[in-house]
Amino acid sequence: MSTGETRFQGIAITELAEQFGTPLFVYDGEVLERTFRDLRAALPAEVDVFFSLKANPNISVCALLRSLGAGAEVSSHVELVTALRAGVAPQDVIFLGPGKDAAELAACVEAGIHAVVCESVEELLQLDELVAAAGTGPCRAMLRINPDFATKGSGLAMGGKPRQFGIDLDVLRAARPALAGLRHVELTGLHAYMGTRFLDHADVVHNTREILAAAERLSDELGVPLGTVDFGGGLGVPYFDNEKELDLARLGAGLHEVVAPFAARHPDCRLIMELGRYLTAWAGTYVVRARYVKQSKGEWFVVADGGTNHHMAAVGVGSFVKRNFPIRHLGRPAEPAVRAYSVTGPLCTPNDVIAKKVELPEVAPGDLLGVERSGAYGPTASPGLFLSHGYPAEVLVHRGTAHLVRERDTLADLLAKQRLVDPLAGAATGAGAEVER
Ligand SMILES: *Cc1c(COP(=O)(O)O)cnc(C)c1O
Repeated sequence: MSTGETRFQGIAITELAEQFGTPLFVYDGEVLERTFRDLRAALPAEVDVFFSLKANPNISVCALLRSLGAGAEVSSHVELVTALRAGVAPQDVIFLGPGKDAAELAACVEAGIHAVVCESVEELLQLDELVAAAGTGPCRAMLRINPDFATKGSGLAMGGKPRQFGIDLDVLRAARPALAGLRHVELTGLHAYMGTRFLDHADVVHNTREILAAAERLSDELGVPLGTVDFGGGLGVPYFDNEKELDLARLGAGLHEVVAPFAARHPDCRLIMELGRYLTAWAGTYVVRARYVKQSKGEWFVVADGGTNHHMAAVGVGSFVKRNFPIRHLGRPAEPAVRAYSVTGPLCTPNDVIAKKVELPEVAPGDLLGVERSGAYGPTASPGLFLSHGYPAEVLVHRGTAHLVRERDTLADLLAKQRLVDPLAGAATGAGAEVER
């Protein structure tokens, strides 16, 4: 019955856990590649795929996606530098975010990226001043619009409603004189992003059709050139048992129908789809080790060494029914389930539950469990500093070799930035930093 423990490109999970410790994120490079290639093959050839580092800012993950042809969409100075160091060419980088500061804008100008995506008229004016002061050539900017339509089917709507993101169309029309007055910013196109976790291809096709139409209208009305149009993406990955996988073939066919006539009318327009979750979620497994297996009032609990501090998303959605991410007993993946366990982490909050009453084979202390499809919005989107556990290790298995691509935080790392004030003397010392490694 048992086919043995879970392996990543032939490497046993116990080996990885022993070598790198737990909790641990394992990224399977083969899955990253397959996901990208399958998506690439389905999408119209006119569309460039940019990786949104927000979903997984690991530099080696970014480098692998770059090697397959992905550009980068970044939203902070550190993400910008990560993408550039990962080898993404500046002309394949865009920078967006509603609250960029002057240093971030200056870094974009210096790097000469494809475009800064401006999210307010105020930001455009600031960028114009900044480039003037820097005395560099013009800086390319795209306008992020907040379209006049909203789409159901997104787990989290980011456009079509009052939002801090992008520029409302009436605001944009009223800002014509300001746009005409830009001297050092060259407007090169438009951007829109409707939301995340779309699982129905029809919603994505609908968004794309609406955004491309809005781009053409705005370009006519305001004279913004259609050098680049980024129509977002937000492709989802099914996590819960009530969700179904996106139909890539139908997505591709639907997008082709919308994109081909647009591309024919605007042959020089670069089309971008920016994706985070879809590119990385499939490839990641969050690996935890069971510490205690106990019962409480008739229910079984596995208390593991990691939980929502690294994987907040696994808490799930819905206030009445808690739905679970796919989770497996990595030591005996093929054995039949014996009972329902709730899998919890080490935090002192009842919300630290990564799987509620999930049917698993017998779990003993020391066993390894894996939360699958967890390569996106893991540690970076979780309260990693809660109870001071810090960041987990990350391993990328690539071409049959396991590479440590992020060290776990150590006690020294976590204390290094604190300063101990002597309550009697009141003088600050660096005592926090002196803790031994
Ligand atoms: C978060 C975000 C993305 C990535 O979204 P996914 O759903 O992970 O693909 C892309 N663009 C913008 C503007 C975002 O805010």
